[in-house]
Amino acid sequence: MILFSFCAQAEETPVAPYLPAQENKTSAEAPITVQFPYEKMAVSRGAKNIFLFGKINLPGKVSLDINGVSVPVHPNGAFLAFLPVENGENAFLLTATNGQETARALRHVRVPGVKWKDLSGRAAFDPDELFPQAPTELLPGDTVGLYARATPGAEVTATLSGLKNGKNIPLQEVSFMPGLYRAKFTISPDQKPKTAKIVYHLKNGPQNTKAKITASKKLKVRSFKEPFTYAQVKTPGVKLRKIPTEKENLFPFYRAYGEVRVTGRMNNQYRLFLNKEESAWLEEDKLKTISAWPGLNRLSGLDMTTDAEKTRLRFGGRRPVVVQIHEFTDRMEVAFYYTENFDENFNFDGTGLLVEQVVWSQPQRNTVLFKIYFKKGVQPWGHSYDFEGNDFVLDIIHRPEITPTKNKPLKGARILIDAGHSPRRTIPYDGAIGPTGYMEYEANLALAEDLKPLLEKHGATVLMTREGKNRKSLQERYKMALQEKAHLFVSLHYNALPETINPLSKPRGYSIYYNYPHSFELAKSVYESFTRLVSIPDNGLIANDVLFIPRIPQMPSILVENAYLILPEQEEMAKTREGRAPFVRAVYEGILKFYGVTPEPVLTENRKRKTRKKPARKTYLRPAKGK
Ligand SMILES: [Zn+2]
Repeated sequence: MILFSFCAQAEETPVAPYLPAQENKTSAEAPITVQFPYEKMAVSRGAKNIFLFGKINLPGKVSLDINGVSVPVHPNGAFLAFLPVENGENAFLLTATNGQETARALRHVRVPGVKWKDLSGRAAFDPDELFPQAPTELLPGDTVGLYARATPGAEVTATLSGLKNGKNIPLQEVSFMPGLYRAKFTISPDQKPKTAKIVYHLKNGPQNTKAKITASKKLKVRSFKEPFTYAQVKTPGVKLRKIPTEKENLFPFYRAYGEVRVTGRMNNQYRLFLNKEESAWLEEDKLKTISAWPGLNRLSGLDMTTDAEKTRLRFGGRRPVVVQIHEFTDRMEVAFYYTENFDENFNFDGTGLLVEQVVWSQPQRNTVLFKIYFKKGVQPWGHSYDFEGNDFVLDIIHRPEITPTKNKPLKGARILIDAGHSPRRTIPYDGAIGPTGYMEYEANLALAEDLKPLLEKHGATVLMTREGKNRKSLQERYKMALQEKAHLFVSLHYNALPETINPLSKPRGYSIYYNYPHSFELAKSVYESFTRLVSIPDNGLIANDVLFIPRIPQMPSILVENAYLILPEQEEMAKTREGRAPFVRAVYEGILKFYGVTPEPVLTENRKRKTRKKPARKTYLRPAKGK
């Protein structure tokens, strides 16, 4: 009966629209909009819960129920909930009422993969979730993670045909993910080259059922003596990964140039051999296989020259290679891989302001490491590097001169304010969106426009990456910073989360990201201003080596996540000048203090004073039931 009434209801219930992608009069006036997820969206594979947010557009005090769970509604109509989903198709039925009127709307999403129900009744495997999904080639001694998704509560084993110790390897069911079975398998160090089929068996399924599946891709064991292939890096300077995942796990300091030796293949990535201790991974499509190996690099000499802007180190070489560039507070380190030696020809013009000494060593065969120590108490403003032909050129950038006066203490400073993301009002949007449909690109630009005149008043030249409705890629923003000779790169953003993370599980608010030691003082100064001036939760000063902006090396470069746009109360702050004023003020004071300038006292209006001294009580929406 319950099922029947739900179906009958579902037939006449409209699908909730979302803004601004579906912007029209009907959508704008719809009693319920669901901004996220979009209709028929495929959410993350294996999701157990996802968040859902939108707005109720009914007069008066409203209550909301989604699939039987009561969800709080913010005074402006916004809501945010974190709700369970299953593999396969899911429907959310939203029912909102203000006592007089009741509105209903539906949202459908799909969790990719076989439905749990199809796996629970009898012994079965999900063919899309077992190892390997792509051709895999490895060496003796390598370890692979075997996994399969199958009927929960059974016994699963794997057999790697023809491999030593490869018979009937037991997989363990993961306690917090029923139906996911895993095991580690190490290829025997004396395994001969061999191509193995991987067969998974399941027994003791419901009613004693059994199942068996053969992975569509194979595991090929190669020999170290015969490398699979040599390859050339297609995009010079590309970043490498620590492990062959699709995202994250970037090595912070490695950059690949030139020709490399490949010794592994997994998840559509190749493993690059660097030396006996080090290897890294890169997507197959970023490499071109080659038949002739160009041989090793050899460094013939190191020249160091200095001018007002920078100290330049030129390493003469035979060919571009993979390098590792690492900045510390007292030195920089440059490692050259595929490099057999350094000929010890030093040529320094001794007048350098910055470099105290350079030490070199060979920590591994075919790896040459330079340590460039800075003079005591001197820190670089930034650095920059690239291959010029076969030479590697490293610039260590000096602190730019500014020309402060009493009234214009930032005169001569060139500050780049980057309003993150670009206008895009169709899905997928560029950046986050809030429950009422306010978009991150607009919110970021509003912050930048409020901040610009404050800095200009003190004499700074403010460079804006975005004004009006122009669009810019990350690369274009970076290029602009270099062309316009920006001294600081300050990127303004609002935060969001992947849909499977509970946004209500802990207090969420602002965070400041930086990467290099030369960006730390600016990041710290802005962060401290946030702790003084902004009343939403503090999510910290975060060293991050993945995000693009903080990795801009030439200047202090930070990314400010001002607040969470997906949280109703924080989206509301972002939407008005008064609401976002604390964020603007915090960035502004942070920059001034970084330059050693004391900010003028905050506006004397009592109202403002009050919000500063006694922050409004922090309120967070909590889900009504469950997690
Ligand atoms: Zn952003």
